[in-house]
Amino acid sequence: MATWVDIDLPSIPREEGDELLAAIETELRRFDRDYYAWGDGELAALNRALTDAGRFEASVELAALVESASTIAELTAYAFDPGVGGLVELWGFHVGDPPIEPPDTGAITSARREFASIAALTVDGATIRASPRAVVLEDGRAAPARRFKLDLGGIAKGAAVDRVFDLLELDAVEPALINAGGDLRVVGERADRPWRIGIAAPRADGVLGVIELEAGEAAFTSGDYERFYEADGERLHHILDPRTGYPVMHTQAITVIASNGTLADAAATALFVAGPDDWQAMADALGIRHVLRVDASGSVEMTGPMRDRFRPAGEADLDIIAASD
Ligand code: AMP
Ligand code: MG
Repeated sequence: MATWVDIDLPSIPREEGDELLAAIETELRRFDRDYYAWGDGELAALNRALTDAGRFEASVELAALVESASTIAELTAYAFDPGVGGLVELWGFHVGDPPIEPPDTGAITSARREFASIAALTVDGATIRASPRAVVLEDGRAAPARRFKLDLGGIAKGAAVDRVFDLLELDAVEPALINAGGDLRVVGERADRPWRIGIAAPRADGVLGVIELEAGEAAFTSGDYERFYEADGERLHHILDPRTGYPVMHTQAITVIASNGTLADAAATALFVAGPDDWQAMADALGIRHVLRVDASGSVEMTGPMRDRFRPAGEADLDIIAASD
């Protein structure tokens, strides 16, 4: 997932921590392999199988994540759509160092036609199927009408953070802070004071302000300052509007708080795409009450509940800065 994961376990002895951290690292490496569409893990296998045979027997874990992603895609009118993988690859944002030239418009149009939306999938137990619309039969052969490149990059980090959360809970380790490159979730409560999270300013050093998190909450940020390049004075970055095939230009950053990492991660990506007129209704549809949005001009707007938690910058004693790394 091209990020560091930092885990703070202030309450347990060093030797115990080392063993636990080794187990967590193994899990994170598994996520990194299995949920990267361009590697050789399970998601890559799913994409091949759906394109070739229109069907894949997934692990229970992957099936559950695809199911969550489908639900969120539906609730966001496909502003969040992991089916954008073909476009992500065309733009070059699937690798750490994106190219410096944008693709041409013809290629973007073809990629939008060629690759299927997650709407074309149904999940039944651990069986994932492409709907008949997405696969046509020719001469008795299954021929893919469309290719699948599901990219779970907008949600898998949240699932990984939740997995670490579950492992810590299983061992009754708390308090703890799980920080995946500025996307985070807290376990339990600190003894001395509430968890205090700074929210990074997208275009400057320092923070916009500080929020407090309650036990178990996750705060995830999607920003245009994570993977991007500049062409003709425009910042072209890794969050794409599935409806146009182009990077979203109306937003610099979205931070959300949710009760788990998977929802927080997908919601931040979705609300980033939603834009000035739709983000509040979309947050409601997702059941997300705490949202902070920075628009293209740098203006900050928030939901009421977020405003209640937010204090302006300058606060000392931050646990961590929430940011899109
Ligand atoms: P995040 O940093 O969580 O907002 O996720 C951004 C990543 O999600 C990108 O690097 C792409 O891999 C993928 N992505 C880009 N646009 C979308 C979208 N509209 N819906 C779902 N995933 C997307
Ligand atoms: Mg996300």
